[in-house]
Amino acid sequence: MKNMYSSVKVFHHKDALDLIERGEIGAPYYIRIKPTNLCNHHCAYCTYGSGSTDQKTENRDAINHMDMIPKEKMLEIIEDMGEMGVRAVTFSGGGEPLTYPYILETVKKVKENNIDLSLITNGELLDGERAEAFYDAKWIRISFDSPDGEEYAKLRGISVRSFEKVIGNISDFAQNKSRDCVLGVNYVISRSNYKRVYEAAKLLKELGVDNIKYAAVVMNEQHYHDEIKDEVIEQIHRAKRELEGGGFQITNSYENDWMDKNFTAQSFPVCYTCRLVTVIAADQKIYLCHTRAYDSKAVVADLRDKSFREAWYSEETRKRLEQLKPQEACRNFCVYQERNELIQAYFDVNYDHINFI
Ligand code: SF4
Ligand code: SF4
Repeated sequence: MKNMYSSVKVFHHKDALDLIERGEIGAPYYIRIKPTNLCNHHCAYCTYGSGSTDQKTENRDAINHMDMIPKEKMLEIIEDMGEMGVRAVTFSGGGEPLTYPYILETVKKVKENNIDLSLITNGELLDGERAEAFYDAKWIRISFDSPDGEEYAKLRGISVRSFEKVIGNISDFAQNKSRDCVLGVNYVISRSNYKRVYEAAKLLKELGVDNIKYAAVVMNEQHYHDEIKDEVIEQIHRAKRELEGGGFQITNSYENDWMDKNFTAQSFPVCYTCRLVTVIAADQKIYLCHTRAYDSKAVVADLRDKSFREAWYSEETRKRLEQLKPQEACRNFCVYQERNELIQAYFDVNYDHINFI
């Protein structure tokens, strides 16, 4: 089956790599937009602090949950993205993107500008016109973390009725979406839900989901996953053996990720990915990447007094991106580690010997 999550997708965009190698900054290919910091769920592990939580990732500054991108600014950003040739966008948190009051106008603008559309949502508001707007998206990913209503409600600080609503929305969306729209689930595994990993895959397959991706919760506690990992891995393998097929796919990121993610230095000297992928957050600032969104040391530009286009193509942004030294600046797990290493290896090839394949 084709791999949606491949780290080598970037090598299908050789023009972008050529620009970087020449020291030029082109338009980003892909942008994550966080329209609002408001969320209707309160997950214990929320890295944006929407839960009751001590798990807000430490590099983020305090997040104002009332921040949202004003409608006119959002439409201006999307218009700029179209003119610049940005290829794809994901609406995600910050908060829950479907609580954004201008989401329908925003999606319409994305479609008018022929930008590939995607959404990461908790699924509770994925109904009616909002669901319809995304039927022809490239993909939708629902964050979901228990097939048991009470456990789900407890993990998310909401009522069991919300669980039932989400289940209904997933099923309706699966039945009504266009065939090319991939409906996936991201299942974050913690000590609170690890016993139901297999059961979750079974339920989600029955609901019509196309794929499920298992990931490990990131905790500040050392060796957090040691006591659960064997049982988790056994369940994921069983789910793959017994449930995959008929268009249903399971991605096992847990097994690569259960080890402690907290470490102190990056293995690569340059971050190329942040020149190709960027983030615009609800506070109207561009950040280096998704992991470092809301970190005041990772701000690239502020869009409150300039357009996205002006900001991205400015000399300040070029210098900011080129002068970033991830080994000093990024004391956090980098989701783009593999991509940065691969791009570095690509640039390190000795061109005099290029034909000796
Ligand atoms: S749904 Fe997402 S943004 Fe909302 S509380 Fe949960 S993790 Fe945080
Ligand atoms: S965390 Fe990774 S992707 Fe983000 S700026 Fe640092 S090196 Fe780049």
